[in-house]
Amino acid sequence: MRPAHLYVHVPFCARRCSYCDFAIAVRRDVPAKEFLDAIARELDTRFAGPEPWALDTLYFGGGTPSRLGADGMRGLVEIFTARARLNPGAEVTIEANPDDVNAADAAVWRQAGINRVSLGAQSFDDAALAWMHRVHDSSAIPAAMSDLRSAGFDDVSLDLIFSLPESLGRDWQRDIDLALALRPEHVSLYGLTVESHAPLGKWVARGEVVEAPEESYEREFLIADESLGKAGFEHYEVSNFALPGRRARHNSAYWRGVPYGGIGPGAHEFDGNVRRWNVGAYAEWQRRLSQGVDPREGDETLTPDNRLAESVYLGLRTVDGLLLKGNEPGHVARWVDSGWARLDGARLVLTPRGWLRLDSLAADLTLFRSH
Ligand code: SF4
Repeated sequence: MRPAHLYVHVPFCARRCSYCDFAIAVRRDVPAKEFLDAIARELDTRFAGPEPWALDTLYFGGGTPSRLGADGMRGLVEIFTARARLNPGAEVTIEANPDDVNAADAAVWRQAGINRVSLGAQSFDDAALAWMHRVHDSSAIPAAMSDLRSAGFDDVSLDLIFSLPESLGRDWQRDIDLALALRPEHVSLYGLTVESHAPLGKWVARGEVVEAPEESYEREFLIADESLGKAGFEHYEVSNFALPGRRARHNSAYWRGVPYGGIGPGAHEFDGNVRRWNVGAYAEWQRRLSQGVDPREGDETLTPDNRLAESVYLGLRTVDGLLLKGNEPGHVARWVDSGWARLDGARLVLTPRGWLRLDSLAADLTLFRSH
């Protein structure tokens, strides 16, 4: 498979954030050459072939790709452009932490062909950032934004975390207002979830932290919907907001269910039928590639039931909605009456209140459709 959409996992982080259980490698000094060599090897062993390869989207996620700096990112992009053609207008995204951004590196990223930045702002509250073990403070966010704009980036997304524990006293509306003041083209929200293997999971298990109540999650989600909507953003996916024409194209490919490739430690991919994933630990992934061993660790072939559940879930998570069949409009009429959904022709589109119930509504409709 030579997919039009490719995810590249760059696992390095300066330290682990309190809520994070991703496949990361905490390194003070990033082994950039070793990583780039392994990425080139993975590309050559898994995606070799004489036919031309064209990419619509290339996404450097992590981890913290910006930890590779200017030379590392330029070298990484060149590994791909030496083997694949970027289609005209291709979206090339880097995830960056504010403290890694400076004017000189940002200019190199832009010249290398990166045209979109997803900036991990998370909050503008210094106490909340420290509690999250973020390495940056709030002043780094506008500074990073300014450096990105000077370098010519006109497509910047800000990540914000909501539903923090109430004991932090974080002002969610203030954070949204400060994010909007930086005039991003896109905003992604993450509702804080407690993962048992993350530091936060241990704090909660020991009773040192109390999770925000469900009502606070719902209230903050709806505040974001209203505030960003007033500022001209389309709430186009359960957790994502974009100015007109600025939807994230790479992630939108996931939500359409089309094939995508994934390389790097812990990366997942999907060929339209089978999901596969790489071994998650950086050292093991790198060792395998250096010894010519396939870094993939597992796969899962979607069953007809999986496919049905996935098609319903994907359809309901975006404003493009789900095409209803047969007697389904009658089944979902009460959702429309409850303000959880609306009908757009024959398509069912969830409202923000419906997205708060996405899992249960998708499960309900999947069950109905399967009978
Ligand atoms: S920067 Fe991102 S990937 Fe790294 S530890 Fe924090 S949340 Fe996890």
